[in-house]
Amino acid sequence: MEVLNPEVLISEEEIALRILDLGNAITKDFNGEDIVVICVLKGAFMFCSDLIKKIHLPVNLEFVSVSSYGDGMTSSGNVSMDLDLSVSIKDKNVLIVEDIVDTGLTIKTLKEYLNLREPKSLKLASLLFKPSRNKHPVDIDYLGFEIEDKFVIGYGLDYAGRYRELPYIGVLNAGN
Ligand code: 5GP
Repeated sequence: MEVLNPEVLISEEEIALRILDLGNAITKDFNGEDIVVICVLKGAFMFCSDLIKKIHLPVNLEFVSVSSYGDGMTSSGNVSMDLDLSVSIKDKNVLIVEDIVDTGLTIKTLKEYLNLREPKSLKLASLLFKPSRNKHPVDIDYLGFEIEDKFVIGYGLDYAGRYRELPYIGVLNAGN
C-alpha cells in the first residue's frame, strides 16, 4: 500500500477540550432526561465513545451503519442503511452522533428515516463540518469543528479502511 504521512490538523488535546464543552452543553440542554445516543458507524465510534463519557445523563447507546462512500475520497451519492436500530425511539430524546457532515446527504437521509420513528426530539452532534461542500442544509446542534475542504483521516475516520486508530484528525499528504 502507498505510504502517506498524516499531518495533524486537530490535535488530541484540542479534540478532548471541545468534547468536554459539547458534553456539558448536551447535559445542560436535556436537563436530567434520558437520551438515546445513536452512533453512526464506523467513523463516529471514537468521537461517540469519548462524548458519552462527558454526558451526565442516563444514556441508551445504539449503533447504525449508513454507507455513502466507497473506498475512495469522493462521495458515491448513494446512501444505504446497513445496520438498523435495535430499540424503538418513539417518544424518546434522540441524539445522533456523526463524524463529519460533508455534502449533508447522509445525515439528511438518516434524519428523515429516524423522524419516521416519531422520536420526542432529534438532535445532531457532529465532530466536523465542511461548510464549503454542503449541498443539503442540516442543523448541527452540537458541532466540534468547522474545517476547510480537505479529506481528513484519524480519530475514527478512514481512508480505504486505514487510519481510524489515530488519536488526532489528520490530513494525508502524498509523498512526504
Ligand atoms: P456526506 O453525506 O455528508 O457527503 O458524507 C458524510 C460521510 O462521508 C461521512 O460520514 C464520512 O463517512 C464521509 N466523509 C466525508 N468527508 C470525509 C473526509 O474528509 N474524510 C473521511 N474519512 N470521510 C469523509
